Amino acid sequence: MATLGGNGFKRRSITSDTWQMLEIAHREGIETVWDRLAKQEPQCGYCNLGTSCRICAMGPCRVDPFGDGPQKGVCGADADIIVARNLLRMIAAGASSHSDHGRDILETLHRVGEGKTDVYKITEPGKLRRLAAEYGVETDGKSDQQIAAALAWEMMEDYGMRRKKLPLAGRAPKARQEIWERTGTFPRGIDRENVEALHRTHMGVDNDWVNLLLHGARTGLSDGWGGSMIATELSDVLFGVPTPKTSSMNLGVLKADEVNIILHGHNPMLSEVIVAAAQDPEMIKLAEEKGAQGINLAGLCCTGNEVLMRKGIPMAGNHLMQELAIVTGAVEAMIVDYQCIMPAVTETAKCYHTKVISTFDKAKFPGAEHISFDPARGREIGVQIVRLAVENYTNRVPDRVFIPVEPEPVMVGFSVEAILGALGGTPDPLVNAIKEGKIRGAVGVVGCNNPKIRQDLGHVELTKRLIENDILVVVTGCAAVANGKAGLMVPEAAEKAGGGLGAVCKALGIPPVLHMGSCVDNTRILVLAAALANHLGVDISALPLAGAAPEWYSEKAVAIGCYVVASGIYTVLGIAPPVFGSPNVVKLLTQGLQDVFGATFAVEPDPERAAALIRRHIERKRAALGLPALDPEKIAMPQAELLPV
Ligand code: SF4
Ligand code: SF4
Repeated sequence: MATLGGNGFKRRSITSDTWQMLEIAHREGIETVWDRLAKQEPQCGYCNLGTSCRICAMGPCRVDPFGDGPQKGVCGADADIIVARNLLRMIAAGASSHSDHGRDILETLHRVGEGKTDVYKITEPGKLRRLAAEYGVETDGKSDQQIAAALAWEMMEDYGMRRKKLPLAGRAPKARQEIWERTGTFPRGIDRENVEALHRTHMGVDNDWVNLLLHGARTGLSDGWGGSMIATELSDVLFGVPTPKTSSMNLGVLKADEVNIILHGHNPMLSEVIVAAAQDPEMIKLAEEKGAQGINLAGLCCTGNEVLMRKGIPMAGNHLMQELAIVTGAVEAMIVDYQCIMPAVTETAKCYHTKVISTFDKAKFPGAEHISFDPARGREIGVQIVRLAVENYTNRVPDRVFIPVEPEPVMVGFSVEAILGALGGTPDPLVNAIKEGKIRGAVGVVGCNNPKIRQDLGHVELTKRLIENDILVVVTGCAAVANGKAGLMVPEAAEKAGGGLGAVCKALGIPPVLHMGSCVDNTRILVLAAALANHLGVDISALPLAGAAPEWYSEKAVAIGCYVVASGIYTVLGIAPPVFGSPNVVKLLTQGLQDVFGATFAVEPDPERAAALIRRHIERKRAALGLPALDPEKIAMPQAELLPV
């Protein structure tokens, strides 16, 4: 049962669409993620510290590193071992999720190569050939289809155990690759690192917490420079390299007089065919026959980011909006693939006419209608799903439809190719702007929503402080949606940036906050960082860059943070990971990694303080490069305040 009313909802989010929909959910007795969090409180202190373990049947065990309770589990594992094992398992789960997504796209490329699909094709032959060259695949005199087959075969090796090094990691600067060699963290095979992580964390295998965490770095790197990068690169080959375009965001993108279909999850394979099916004249005619003015698609989470970047499909919201989108009463179908889809959505949907349609056999949801997605019959399945949604329009209850806000315009689609294109084909203008100090540096603000943080506050306040101080912000995932809803992803937002960054953005006609895509597209940030470092002949860790995940919740975010730091980029987390039960692990992550990877983690929930930490870091990097720099100690560190939850 909802517990807050009226202005109390403002404590949960900074966005008006959330407040208004929470009000309705409260009135109608519909439970949301915030209500369920309240029911879980107080959450387990041992789990928060990372010192609980249930990986064998001698347990479950809890150790009490700061009290008089047991200091060891039944097997003798202490807090350091238990925390490191738990963290490695989180990294492996996140890396596996991204990488399995990459595998699905790779299998689709293989089907295209074998001519076994009626719907997918090579949309970007130039990118296909560039990738083929990286993998040593012969292209002369070969058709796109032949190259696709050969490249897919080679990339499948990336998942196996024959390689000593993942080929895409060869994009990193030589100095970075040497660090990975020296520390034994160069990723070999994607599945290999993930399976080894599970092996090492079984009772009685790797009991050296440093050794466990180094494998965590290798597992994360197999995601960043492996599985996720494959997902991004091959999605571009199949569906197109994103280019700048305008669209809109928030629940206002839903339309009161059209069939609304929400695309939720992560994998663009299905959403691409839904986009095509929704434009089918037969479907549009059917919608009209049912009394609707048309068919309106809207995204959620990272499937939304994929179709937004490539097709300009509007975005209904980020992670915490998935239940609230249904509460508008205007959604005929929520089509889900996998990852970040709360099982709660089918319960919410029962209160409305909304059909939740699950599509991947590896991701079923009790209460959802399951239509098994087969890429070989993509078009037919796309039409089947859209037809179901359209036919459901007559079940809508008009009196319950409430669309709370007007949509916010956004400019999206800044792939690395698009950014370099905007700069005239070379990083020189960006590098020069950084050298001159017009742009102090760049920060990737990425990751999720988490109901423990006031929705979007962490993302938006951090981003505002950074751009005000002439730091270019690139965004992905739900962080991108937060910033878009806040009006920071339009060229006019250059007015909110400092004079230097603002002038550069105005000259180029771009926003100061560049949308680089979905969660797997964090690899675009890696590629851009590597390109800048290679251009300057330095390692990534020398650049005035940082990462931030102010509202993360997902194991995937842990894997991302891990590969970003192991790639040399200082990263600030807004939510503490479950490691504080081991002061040794905390010291390694926040200090010791500097000597290993030239970068560390920091944890800072207050976005004002996070901005100050990042600004200080960027000025230190500028000084080390011999660029004009501010005295980091003169950047004020605001007083710590407890953020309202
Ligand atoms: S592995 Fe050790 S600490 Fe973990 S549950 Fe088993 S006995 Fe307990
Ligand atoms: S940013 Fe986080 S919540 Fe959002 S789609 Fe990605 S993993 Fe899921």
